[in-house]
Amino acid sequence: MTENLDALRHSCSHVMADAVKRLFPDVKLAIGPAIEDGFYYDFDREEPFKPEDLAVIEKEMAKIIKEGRDFLKEDISKKEALELFAKEPYKVELINKLEGDQVSVYRHGGFADLCKGPHVSSTGEIKAFKLLSIAGAYWHGIETNPMLQRIYGTCFKTKEALETYLKNIEEAKKRDHRRLGKELDLFSIHDEVGPGLVFYHPKGALLRMLIEDYEKKEHLRRGYQMVMGPHILKSDIWMTSGHYEYYKDNMYIFKVENEEYAIKPMNCPGHMLIYKSKMRSYRDLPLRYFELGNVHRREKTGVLHGLLRVRGFTQDDAHIFCLPEQLEQEITGVIDFVIDTMKVFGFNDYKIGLSTRPPKSIGTDEIWERATNALKSALKSKGMNYEVSEGEGAFYGPKIDIMVKDALSRPWQCATVQCDFFLPERFDLTYISSDGKKERPVMLHRVILGSMERFMGTLIEHYAGAFPVWLAPVQALVIPITDRSHDYADIVASRLRDEDIRVEIDKRNEKLQYKIREGEMNKIPYMLIIGDKEKEAGTVSLRARKSGDTGAVKIEEFVDRIKNEITDKVI
Ligand SMILES: [Zn+2]
Ligand SMILES: [Zn+2]
Repeated sequence: MTENLDALRHSCSHVMADAVKRLFPDVKLAIGPAIEDGFYYDFDREEPFKPEDLAVIEKEMAKIIKEGRDFLKEDISKKEALELFAKEPYKVELINKLEGDQVSVYRHGGFADLCKGPHVSSTGEIKAFKLLSIAGAYWHGIETNPMLQRIYGTCFKTKEALETYLKNIEEAKKRDHRRLGKELDLFSIHDEVGPGLVFYHPKGALLRMLIEDYEKKEHLRRGYQMVMGPHILKSDIWMTSGHYEYYKDNMYIFKVENEEYAIKPMNCPGHMLIYKSKMRSYRDLPLRYFELGNVHRREKTGVLHGLLRVRGFTQDDAHIFCLPEQLEQEITGVIDFVIDTMKVFGFNDYKIGLSTRPPKSIGTDEIWERATNALKSALKSKGMNYEVSEGEGAFYGPKIDIMVKDALSRPWQCATVQCDFFLPERFDLTYISSDGKKERPVMLHRVILGSMERFMGTLIEHYAGAFPVWLAPVQALVIPITDRSHDYADIVASRLRDEDIRVEIDKRNEKLQYKIREGEMNKIPYMLIIGDKEKEAGTVSLRARKSGDTGAVKIEEFVDRIKNEITDKVI
């Protein structure tokens, strides 16, 4: 199926090269493979292609497709090939690099390309294609080589599949959290003070506070205890944990008065110190420490991306210390927690991976088997499908990664449950067992939402900025039509504030339609429009983001409605 699609897309790249050659005979051809979502072809041409050229090339391609030319394979000698492509320096270079004396060439009509295939049988099989963009690309991707012009396109088996794909690209652009973050005034990142460091504006900070408040309550409800610690710790502890040896390049390390400190890249050592602060008995376990832990990691500038890849972020991080026989129950608890939390935030579809024991690892066979089985049976008991990556686990324990799928079916990394047999050793964590012996607890690292920054990015794109009422930074906007209703607007707003509803009033001297339009752009769930009529009747004219104009309602009726929606966390 995929192979088929690749052959179709690659065939389409030949057709594009043919069309470009017909229209711009001076171009030199480089290469044109199929890629993940389509294909490209690299051309060398003095003059740059213009965006409007794409439509012209598409038209020429349509002609070639209509001609229904067969793709024919030919094996020729290198010598013949060098003659055939004598005017194509990039092809000559490729031919000279090939081993053996035979070269395979594909032709359709008068066009020939150096190519191993496979191809579809005829240009007529290409039913649905689209050229997408033009970009610069170095020959072989090497900066000192000539800069070529790459034309990207895509091709699908049916017009419907192509349309869905194009629609999704448009939709993804509209949902880009960097763009919406700016439009909705949620956050900003300033390269001049440090790339990958996020500033939350009032509405973004509020959204984050709502998510955090919900999580804190849920953790307490599920038997976690909140802990907190400092942002900097002496390097010694990072030596004990092994981070100094293996993770140093990603850490911010500095010296003060001859003592070396590091900004924490992880929260685990702090939690282990708290565990170690007194003698633990088997009766104390499991212990579940939770922290909204702010960490800093030196990610490469090139990989930073909005809220998704940053250098400073907060994890909803917990470490569970338990007896080996409690592992399954604890892991099941975490999976339950993930499912319940994701549901509340509107995610119901997952992609789950289980990574098992690598060839080089620490810990006994018994503990590995126990932990891996515990992870598996927790997933099975929830009826969740998962993919196993054999041997892909960390050397110190197996793990589960859970990605949620958003409204466009795109997967986003969030939860992880990682078993750790290593750190309890390094930190010499113990408990006194029922027969009075010192034993090692098992430790689980786990996050539910993962990084708060990345989760906010996920939420913004999933909802395209139109958050459910309980999460909307502004839940209701009161719009007085004229100055005469300002006093009544104040009364309505203060009635809503009494119920902890987040409300704003727009008293600006602007046209009603303008204010409504702006409320819509800000994706505010409810607009309450107020004029003389509403003032007299003690009502508001309600405009809901979901259902549009819903006419006059009594204030109390609206208060009940929105309060229920908030309490039930309606999506
Ligand atoms: Zn080919
Ligand atoms: Zn940890």
